[in-house]
Amino acid sequence: MAKRDYYEVLGVDRGASETEIKKAYRKLAIKYHPDKNDGDPEAEEKFKEAAEAYEVLSNKDKKERYDRFGHDGMRGASGGMNMDDIFSQFGDIFGGSGNPFESFFGGGGGGGRARRRKGSNLRIKLKLTLEEMAKGADKKIKVNRLVSAEGATFKTCTSCQGTGQVRKVVNTMLGQMVSSSTCPTCGGSGQIVENVPPGANSQGLEPKEEIISIKIPAGVSDGMQLSMSGKGNEAPNGGAAGDLLILIEEIEHETLKRDGNNVVFDLYISFIDAALGEDVEIPTLDGKVKIKIAPGTQSGKVLRLRGKGIKDLNGYGVGDQLIHVNVWTPKTLTKEEKQALENLKASKNFKPNPGKNEKGFFERMKEYF
Ligand SMILES: [Zn+2]
Repeated sequence: MAKRDYYEVLGVDRGASETEIKKAYRKLAIKYHPDKNDGDPEAEEKFKEAAEAYEVLSNKDKKERYDRFGHDGMRGASGGMNMDDIFSQFGDIFGGSGNPFESFFGGGGGGGRARRRKGSNLRIKLKLTLEEMAKGADKKIKVNRLVSAEGATFKTCTSCQGTGQVRKVVNTMLGQMVSSSTCPTCGGSGQIVENVPPGANSQGLEPKEEIISIKIPAGVSDGMQLSMSGKGNEAPNGGAAGDLLILIEEIEHETLKRDGNNVVFDLYISFIDAALGEDVEIPTLDGKVKIKIAPGTQSGKVLRLRGKGIKDLNGYGVGDQLIHVNVWTPKTLTKEEKQALENLKASKNFKPNPGKNEKGFFERMKEYF
């Protein structure tokens, strides 16, 4: 599904001020708040969409990047927000407890439905070859998720009577103050497990092995984290599941090294091939290809195979393969070989004579890296 424009999501125009953006978001957050929509998945999507839009447009750096590059510029920067992130953001927007209904409707809690707890995130590492990173891959991975155990039953939490909040009256010099905080017994869900089936934990969850299919986009790199919403651990008593966070690790390639979206290959040729010219086979991410070494090729020359590198994650083209030519000097010689070379020693063709367009080491570095 195509992502909607953040300004469109919040219903403000591009020149909207910070206050206008905040106001627009506040309106949507109240309209689509889960407490008001009783688990309607469409409302939850709208709620998350608005939160993500606000998260970007309320941050100076992220907004600037979004204004310039659109959604492409945000990739990796805002990996989707989960409900906990959204609620924790509410402190800024609504003030006080972060619950919009307390401050807006003056309800002061009591009888309000407790916030459903979200399942915890699940983290896995995924090793990928350079080829898989270059072209993308469909992977199936085994994960051990916590899921609701069959036969687990729940009852209203006795510590908070199902509100998810506990109130404490504290006597201070200024008089009595009431503070309210998340109920420690039920963690804010208002429910506790009544019957724990064997094998389940104290939240009524049990581990279950599952195979999950993941589509890895082309261009990911080592250390990057992908997130699949709702594929993490389930929450006790039917709350939303957490996210599956996938940390990408690169399997070292036998012959190719990655440099950004380019791949680099070190080629060694004999100085005879360098002098006479030769066709050599080179490994690439698409298998072997033949390239021509021109007669008179100098050691240190860099050849470029266009488009044989890694596809850019944000769709800005494909990198190249760079071939770094190293001319191999023999380390041992037979008597005959020695003699043959001695015979060539006097020839002026063998004396180094770099011309003006012979690029030195530093110029080549500047050009390619
Ligand atoms: Zn409780």
